[in-house]
Amino acid sequence: MQKLEHIGIAVKNLEEANVLYAKLLGREHYKIEEVESEGVRTSFFEVAGLKIELLEATKPESAIAKFVEKRGEGLHHLAFEVQNIQKSIQEKKAQGFVPIKETVSKGADNKLICFLHPKSTGGVLVELCQEIR
Ligand code: ZN
Repeated sequence: MQKLEHIGIAVKNLEEANVLYAKLLGREHYKIEEVESEGVRTSFFEVAGLKIELLEATKPESAIAKFVEKRGEGLHHLAFEVQNIQKSIQEKKAQGFVPIKETVSKGADNKLICFLHPKSTGGVLVELCQEIR
């Protein structure tokens, strides 16, 4: 793990959440990006080099839609940057962590991503992300 790259927060309505977080953080979001394959629309804020990613579901079968339905809005995942995501997944698996999918997906913000199941990480959904170079 290189650093905490961003914190993901599930929201019901991205426009409303953007207004709320702009007020809270004292700055505007700097981009909005849709990731169709994941069924999400995201917006990003930056606070001293740490990104806050707001995630809104774009379809009912999206993981974010299910999360919001079950748990309500709020903290969704912590994303750690890694150098080599394939290698990290193998290392984490060998240590007993459980990837949600065996394959790497394309996430927002020019990243390859993979999630570790919260049942293996003490209840926190952990994202591994690698910048696409
Ligand atoms: Zn994320």
